[in-house]
Amino acid sequence: MHKPSPPLEGPDAFQDKIRIVLVETSHSGNIGAVARAMKNMGLANLWLVNPNSFPDEASYARAAGASDILDRAQVVPTLDKALEDCIVVMGTSARGRKIPWPVLPPPEAAEIAAEKSLSGPVALVFGRENHGLSNDELHLCHYHIHIPTNPDYSSLNLSMAVQIMCYELRMLFLRNLEDGKDSPYLKPMLAPGDAGWDVPPAKVGDVEGFFGHLEQTLHDVDFHRRDNPRQLMSRLRRLFQRAKLDQMEINILRGILSAVQKAAGVSGNSNSTKASTELTGQDNGHV
Ligand code: SAH
Repeated sequence: MHKPSPPLEGPDAFQDKIRIVLVETSHSGNIGAVARAMKNMGLANLWLVNPNSFPDEASYARAAGASDILDRAQVVPTLDKALEDCIVVMGTSARGRKIPWPVLPPPEAAEIAAEKSLSGPVALVFGRENHGLSNDELHLCHYHIHIPTNPDYSSLNLSMAVQIMCYELRMLFLRNLEDGKDSPYLKPMLAPGDAGWDVPPAKVGDVEGFFGHLEQTLHDVDFHRRDNPRQLMSRLRRLFQRAKLDQMEINILRGILSAVQKAAGVSGNSNSTKASTELTGQDNGHV
């Protein structure tokens, strides 16, 4: 009926103690989409309370490669059964209820869930597509979670609500990796010098060599008049400093300048041309 997929294992099965509970889901495709959302975020423990249809073709089709989560899913007849061994229960709801309960936004809910899950199973409970969780079901919960959607259109698709909560749990997991140090996955990679950039950052001396070469070339082609500079070099400096050049980019730019000088019939700044050739190992800066 479906292609088996490799089971989650190792550190990504990080929170088997956090249980995703779906109550009386009517569309089995949503169950598959939930499995996929969970597996993407490293969760694997799915409980289904009296689903309308499960297992079936639609659930496995929507699970994509997360069929192992469906294979392992526990199907139980009542919500009580799904919660009986849990130490904390959090119910999700798209709307406020008559008697307000302690309500947590998703990041805070994930923090409490992750912390409590060290002591025992924690359940995150999600309701039916057409009318959510009943008041009685919500009263079984220690906390309610509301994902702060547009108040005029507040109800998320079931699997998207699950995705958001699982994402919050994953962010926590990544932040707590490596003995509390920030995970490399959470650090932005924006410029040379950041972990993951492919080329080392340019050194100040190389950047200054480039600026000298640029000024000389602009002078050679009569663009830059030293007797009337009009802040040209300051503005170009500001532009290139903003770009935070890496070593290869410097080489390319210097290769271009040398080519411009050659085309303009000037011999070029022999130092800068030499520097460029040494840095690139080529004479035109092509990479
Ligand atoms: N029409 C239902 C919403 C059902 S959406 C209602 O008015 O209650 C299906 C499930 O997705 C909800 O029971 C809840 O578990 C979850 N969900 C959808 N939107 C949510 C939101 N903004 N915050 C928290 N959970 C939400």
